[in-house]
Amino acid sequence: MILVVEDEPTIAGAIARRLSAEGYQVQTVGDGLAAVEAASSLQPDLLVLDVMLPGIDGLEVCRRVQAERPVPVLMLTARDDETDKLVGLGVGADDYMTKPFSMRELLARIKALLRRVERAKVLSSPNNEEDPIVAGDLVIDPNSRRVTRGGQEIHLTPTEFDLVVFLASSPRTVRTREKLLEHVWDWADASGTRTVDSHIKGVRRKLGADLIRTVHGVGYAFEPVEDD
Ligand code: CA
Repeated sequence: MILVVEDEPTIAGAIARRLSAEGYQVQTVGDGLAAVEAASSLQPDLLVLDVMLPGIDGLEVCRRVQAERPVPVLMLTARDDETDKLVGLGVGADDYMTKPFSMRELLARIKALLRRVERAKVLSSPNNEEDPIVAGDLVIDPNSRRVTRGGQEIHLTPTEFDLVVFLASSPRTVRTREKLLEHVWDWADASGTRTVDSHIKGVRRKLGADLIRTVHGVGYAFEPVEDD
């Protein structure tokens, strides 16, 4: 079930119709507090969440919902710079779309997010044990999807986690933004390379700026910290 949180009835209606036509169950709510309640009582598989809402805003909704249970969140923002700001704050959304967006694009992103959640479930099943990635004081456990640095647990969103695992599994290898989009977000097109930059910022803010190197004009590489 997908919960659509949007106070603009035309947009909410259009999203709900399109998702229903694709076979998803959909509920819509138009304000922040109702969204937190609905997320708790309906246990949706995914939230489409507008930032500007009456009552409490989308950021606060995201925090409250995630504090109760991890659920993928696709956030709708009014401007690109707003997206950068939100990622910098570490709000915990998994993907962002700037209005206006096409329904086709929204659907593609929702499908990609749900696919990733499914994949994560398969990977974390007991017969799929993977070795933790250890790089200096950083430990990434793909099975429990937990990350610690210097023994301190760091909370990453599902997207941030997948991004770090992909980069860290090939240290010092430069990954292009297009490659990261394709692998982590499941998008074949490069229209969202900005999304990659925003999430890298979020990861650096949480893990420390020293682990991921920017290769200007190309992409990013994981640089393990060596203890010597
Ligand atoms: Ca709004």
